Order: sequence, then structure tokens, then C-alpha cells
Amino acid sequence: MDVSTVACDICKHQKQETNHWLVVIEKPGFEGLIFLPSEAAQEPRVEGYIYRDLCGHMCAQKKLSQWLDELKNINYPTKGDAA
Ligand SMILES: [Zn+2]
Repeated sequence: MDVSTVACDICKHQKQETNHWLVVIEKPGFEGLIFLPSEAAQEPRVEGYIYRDLCGHMCAQKKLSQWLDELKNINYPTKGDAA
């Protein structure tokens, strides 16, 4: 993989070396995030999933924090609301 084309989704830092980068995977319709070390998320990437590169610990935390904020704005129906 050509690392020069990889940039962090959060801070836009360009990938210089492979250590400590992470990949966060999202799937439309799946209300969660999957974090992987970038070494564990090599090609081929699975169609239908969204892969975003993260430069490390801090940006992974920011990504998780953004997701948690979005989660607060989603109202899931609970069992009590049915019927
Ligand atoms: Zn970053």
C-alpha cells in the first residue's frame, strides 16, 4: 500500500510510518464502530463498509467521542414504546 496517500480522517496528518495507525470501520445500518490496528485491516477491504484511517490513540478517542455525541441524538425505540 502506498502510505503517502493515507491521511488521518480526524487531523488530516499524513501517514509517515505504519506504527500505531488504526482503522475505524463503519457499516451503514450497523450502529457501531469497529477499531482495528491498521496492520489488521489490510486489503482487500470489504465492500459496503466504510474504512477511515486514524493516526493513533488521540484521534481514535476523538472519533469515539464524536460517535458517542451522535448516539445521544438518536432515539432508539425501546420495548416500552411498542404497542
Ligand atoms: Zn490524527
